[in-house]
Order: sequence, then structure tokens, then C-alpha cells
Amino acid sequence: MLLAVINENGHSGLVTILKGTELAQQIRAGVKSSIDALVATGRTAPTVAVVMAAETPEALVYVESVERSFSRVGICSRRVSVPDGATDADLQELIRDLAEDTEVHGILVPTPLRPGLTLLAAQDALPPAKDVEGISSANVGRLALGRPLAIPATPLGGMELLRHYGVELSGKQATVVGRSSVVGWPMATLLTQANATVTVCHSRTPNLAEHTRRADIVVAAAGRPAMITAAMVRPGAVVVDFGVNVTEQGMCGDVDYNSVSAVASAITPVPGGTGPVTAAVLVRNVYEAATRVLNMGAQSK
Ligand code: NDP
Repeated sequence: MLLAVINENGHSGLVTILKGTELAQQIRAGVKSSIDALVATGRTAPTVAVVMAAETPEALVYVESVERSFSRVGICSRRVSVPDGATDADLQELIRDLAEDTEVHGILVPTPLRPGLTLLAAQDALPPAKDVEGISSANVGRLALGRPLAIPATPLGGMELLRHYGVELSGKQATVVGRSSVVGWPMATLLTQANATVTVCHSRTPNLAEHTRRADIVVAAAGRPAMITAAMVRPGAVVVDFGVNVTEQGMCGDVDYNSVSAVASAITPVPGGTGPVTAAVLVRNVYEAATRVLNMGAQSK
């Protein structure tokens, strides 16, 4: 397989498509055999509670899709409804009850939350050991310190995809477009921890193209269809597209795939790039939460 390398002399004309399906299958297969082995020893199957505090149609589609991924590897999931009219304090109490529940090993809080509920309230209440998305206040802080218990699945999957294809990160210039707490910011942190030199851009960044054009690695996480064009990418750069945008023409990323793949040395497609790896890493995060929680239970006996 052609490895994606930065060609200092310009683009070679070959582009590696950084597909996520094979890596996702590997991750899922590893998790499934670990769960099978766990259950064979008489331990309980990992169980994740899905806190239903987001009721947009997209959130329900997301919940159904993660439930399918969980059941394929033997993870049990349980929906926990949050009553209409619940306040932040009610949400926190519900999450704290799940934190105490020994039959629940992981807690997932799909977003955006309903009006009246704030994500920070959920983040503060989520126990870091059961936080499968790496969004708890404690895990966000621990990631900054380089000691996370869980890392958000999307950026972690993006990093694993780069490693899977042998993309060198140390000493490289990376530009991340987007600074959300679940995608852009943690991706920038992970790239920095992998010794890349990172620029983070956002909606108030003037002259965005100046920052993307000097990058060896361009990461798009803005939620703006095809906003990264070929003119914004240095020949030979590696391009990671986290964007998931539904347009009249179908699903597309934040990168103008056809034009950018003519100049990049490697690029993730949408769909089929970062998305499948995100789903597989979330499944692995649940398994890892379960082993943490079960080990903590064993130690406290
Ligand atoms: P958010 O809307 O939370 O954040 C978007 C970020 O992009 C913000 O920091 C915003 O800046 C920045 N931004 C928006 N417009 C521009 C612009 N024109 N120029 C520069 N920066 C801009 O989105 P998420 O981080 O949650 O998601 C980002 C994308 O990733 C979405 O398409 C989402 O669907 C997708 N996604 C993909 C996943 C996957 O598995 N591949 C999983 C999760 C999300 P500011 O902070 O100034 O507002």
C-alpha cells in the first residue's frame, strides 16, 4: 500500500485514499473477541446507558445507529429517558444515579441537549470512569494533561487512521479548522501531543487559506460543506475531513473532495473515511469503560 508522505518537492500525482472501513473492522473485531472472552469468564456484558435528553430527529437516528454498533459486538444498551421539563439539576441527579448503578458501565449523552438543559451540567456530573465519549469535565482536563481516561471518539479515530496509514506527525505543521470541544479542540491537543506544530482556526480566523496552505496536515471540522478547496491546500498535504454535511446532492464533507484529491498526497473520503472509525472507537471506549468499572469493583471488594 502506498504510504502517505509529505513530498517536499510537490505533489507526486498519486493520492492515497484514507479509507476507514478496514481499520474500523479491526477495532470492532478486537472489541468483540475481548467481550466474548469477558462474558465467557462469567462476567457481565458491558452495559451502556444512553441518556435521552436530546430529541431532535438527528439525535434519534444517531442513537439507533450506535445501538446497532453496540449490539454487533455484544454491548447491551439501555435508554434512560429524561422527563419533559427536567432541569439541569434533574439531569445531574439522573447521571449521578447512573454513576452509582453497578450494572451500568458506561454513560452516553447524545447532543444537542433539549432547550433548558446545558451540556456543562452533564459534563460536570459525568463520572470520568464511565464517560465513554471523553466529554466529562474531568476527562477534558485530563486530556489537556495528557492523562485521559477516555478520548472523544472522532478525533481519536482520526489519529488512529493517520497512524494506520503511516502518516508521520512529529515535526509536521498541522492546521485544524474548527475548535469544538468534541472534535476540533481535542484533535488539536492530540496532534500537539504527537509532536506536530498546530494552528487552530475558527469562524473568526481571517485569511483562513494562509493557515491551511502552510500545513502538512489539514484537518477540517467545521460543518461547512466543501469549504476547503484545492487552492487552500499545499501540494502533497494530508487532508483529514471530519465534516458530515447533508446537502441536496447527498452527504459530503467539509473538503471539496474532487479538487483537493488532485493536490493532496492523502485524503479521507466522506462517507467511508473518519466516520466508520469514530463508530468503532466509540464501541471500544464502552468496552474500556466496562473493564475500568469492573476492575474498580473487583478492587473495592
Ligand atoms: P461545531 O458546530 O460544534 O463546531 C464547528 C467549528 O467550526 C467551530 O469551532 C466553528 O468556529 C468552526 N467554523 C464554522 N464555520 C467556519 C468557517 N467558515 N471557517 C472556519 N471555522 C469555522 O461542530 P462539531 O465540531 O461538532 O462538528 C464538526 C463537523 O464534524 C460537523 O460536520 C459534524 O457533523 C462532524 N462530525 C463528524 C464526526 C465523524 O465521525 N466524522 C463526528 C462528530 C461530528 P467558532 O468556534 O468560531 O464557532
